[in-house]
Amino acid sequence: MKKKLQSKNISLGFENSGLKKTSARRKKPKRDRKIKPNGEKNNIKMKLKNLRAAIRRYDHYYYNLDQPEVSDYEYDKLFSELVQLEKKYPALITLDSPTQRVPGKVLPHFEKKSHKTAMLSLQNTYNEEEIISFYEKILKTLERSSTDFLLEPKLDGMAISLFYEQGYLTQALTRGDGNEGENVLENIKTIRSIPLRVSLSLEVLEIRGEVILLKKDFKRINERQAEAGLNSFANPRNMAAGSLRQLDPAITAKRPLKFFAHSPGFFKGGDFQNQKMFLNTIKKIGLPVLPVMDLKSFKSKNKLKVFAASIVCKNKDHILEYFHTMEKIRPLLPYEIDGIVIKVNSFSEQEKLGSISRSPRWARAAKFEPERGESSIKNISIQVGRTGVLTPVAHLDPVSVGGVSITHATLHNQLEISKKDIRVGDTVIVGRAGDVIPEIIKVNFSKRKKTSLPFKMPKKCPSCLSDVRIMRDIIFCSNPLCSAVVLQSLIHFTSKKAMNIESLGRKTMKRLYETKLVKTFSDIFKLTKELLLTLEGIGEKSSQRILSNIEKSKNTKLSSFIFALGIRHIGEQAARNISRFFIEKASIQMDQCPSRKNKNPSQLSFTDDRVALETKELSSSRFLEKVPALYLLSQATEEELQEITDIGEVAARSIRESFSDSAFKEEISLLLKLGVQIQTPDKTATKLIFSGKKITITGRLPQNRGEVEKLIYSLGGIVQSSVNKKTAFLLQGSREGTPSQKEKQAQKLHIPLLDWEAFQEKIKTKSV
Ligand SMILES: [Zn+2]
Repeated sequence: MKKKLQSKNISLGFENSGLKKTSARRKKPKRDRKIKPNGEKNNIKMKLKNLRAAIRRYDHYYYNLDQPEVSDYEYDKLFSELVQLEKKYPALITLDSPTQRVPGKVLPHFEKKSHKTAMLSLQNTYNEEEIISFYEKILKTLERSSTDFLLEPKLDGMAISLFYEQGYLTQALTRGDGNEGENVLENIKTIRSIPLRVSLSLEVLEIRGEVILLKKDFKRINERQAEAGLNSFANPRNMAAGSLRQLDPAITAKRPLKFFAHSPGFFKGGDFQNQKMFLNTIKKIGLPVLPVMDLKSFKSKNKLKVFAASIVCKNKDHILEYFHTMEKIRPLLPYEIDGIVIKVNSFSEQEKLGSISRSPRWARAAKFEPERGESSIKNISIQVGRTGVLTPVAHLDPVSVGGVSITHATLHNQLEISKKDIRVGDTVIVGRAGDVIPEIIKVNFSKRKKTSLPFKMPKKCPSCLSDVRIMRDIIFCSNPLCSAVVLQSLIHFTSKKAMNIESLGRKTMKRLYETKLVKTFSDIFKLTKELLLTLEGIGEKSSQRILSNIEKSKNTKLSSFIFALGIRHIGEQAARNISRFFIEKASIQMDQCPSRKNKNPSQLSFTDDRVALETKELSSSRFLEKVPALYLLSQATEEELQEITDIGEVAARSIRESFSDSAFKEEISLLLKLGVQIQTPDKTATKLIFSGKKITITGRLPQNRGEVEKLIYSLGGIVQSSVNKKTAFLLQGSREGTPSQKEKQAQKLHIPLLDWEAFQEKIKTKSV
């Protein structure tokens, strides 16, 4: 790994071999350090500098150019090396170190700050005539027969102004009211495509742009929110804005926000002549911008594939052509745009044109006709989710939007309903957020009936009539035994991504619940043919099928099982991460105990060699202990849980609370007692050829070392840094000179040596 890095260093301009020297340095006796403190300090400084430069470069390639240069594994290794080193030498931490992006403490509030120059909003145009009249007015005012216009897609996100002072990112303001915005710097820092420092001679440079979310990320996050029983967002813009306005930067860091710069704000000490020049300059110093080209290249690019770019042109017909092209490719773009922006390219001409009441005279937003339909709201119902969240849903007269028939739209929460003043009986404009999710855009107030009343979320749960609890915009049913919550949890438990019990769908589950045959998860596994036959419509055959599917579901994966339990904030992905984490932990613990060798961690009982298990407390969790990974999860502290990828404070607390509940643990024990078998390795161990095998690598491989390590991990193996008795084999790369330490050790211990070809062959033939 270190070797690898060094060979890369050359291209990164690392003349100093600081990385190599460090390992030598570690071996030096302490006394030596005292003698040459300055030399050592310089060494560390150089090493830090090199690490930071490498990470910055990888970030740039990954986030801005979409061309990852190293594997995630390698990147993470580098990053943790930097973190460790900075931890040891805190005085050497710089403002622009990549570690400074890692979310710090939760803010009490956002600081308000004035914009140096007001953040104006653009006037809109909606059709060709308005675009042409804007074009003609510009030429008339400038007293010219033609001029350059810069046209760009109008990204639908949240406007942000970035402030670089002496090259350092020092401030990031929201638009606010245009004069004063909120400083969301800590959150902006978590967006890795935004450089923390730029090399530019300008004393001060303000860059304005848009923070957005890709459509696919929007969809994915909303699905996860729903899975975890949380509120969904109406559209990508709201999600981007909501993510940026989090007081806890750790939440922002989890959202894959993107930034695109589009224009300068205030700047001092520099000279840009026009928009195009500005964009090209900031692109060079590492800021993400859309490419700038002429109409011809833009069109030819679009013939090959969907491609968004800014263009510079003079002709009004070209402006219209660009407008229509963008409108056509819009649904296929990865992000939402709601129009194009037409700007006069030259800054001196912009200045001449000036601005009028909060909008510049030199620019217009030409908006697209949105894909929308009109419908009316027949009813608003309240759904109670499995976590108890109450969600209002509008039932609509079917309407076709963009070729899809829409009959329902979530109204999210009271805030959203009040903001748009949505009422039963209203005629509404319906669209699809992110081109996917049905959404009520606005009410057609002219068609509102005089008798209509504002909609209010209920104060009591519609299902169990308990009082609701309100947390920010979310309303919960306060009753843990609420029948709707229990029923939804049961439906969730049997669903495909959870226990996957086919033929126990929503309808059957509802009947089983209503007839009190199934009140808990474990009741499902107590069902008998006699009980099932008491249900109307269930005969001999279907009862047989249900029972056999229940039997089949007993063999499940740990991740599916955790997901099935329906712990609040734990969606499918989180369950997978948790499962992987504890399976690994259990396997490590197992390793340390020689008598437990060769046993599948899932089947192994921790209680094997324990004597004192007589106390009642322990006996109740005896079944839980049969699945070490699950047992470790049940014992984990919040801190430990937060070590898991994507598990934050809230999710960790939620898990902890669930496992502190003895009834919850009893229920799990009961499930295991009733025969639920949890297979811990997610990709069934037998299929993975290196499953549990320890593999050591030496020498130079024809492939990137990080990639090879990843491959080994993905095939179930574990990469070891040195050879010992447990090593399955030593993967031997090419090497000059005497055998390496690892090779000598392998020979001594009779560990097989495999060269690259043999290794490849092994994978191909799946023989170990
Ligand atoms: Zn309820």
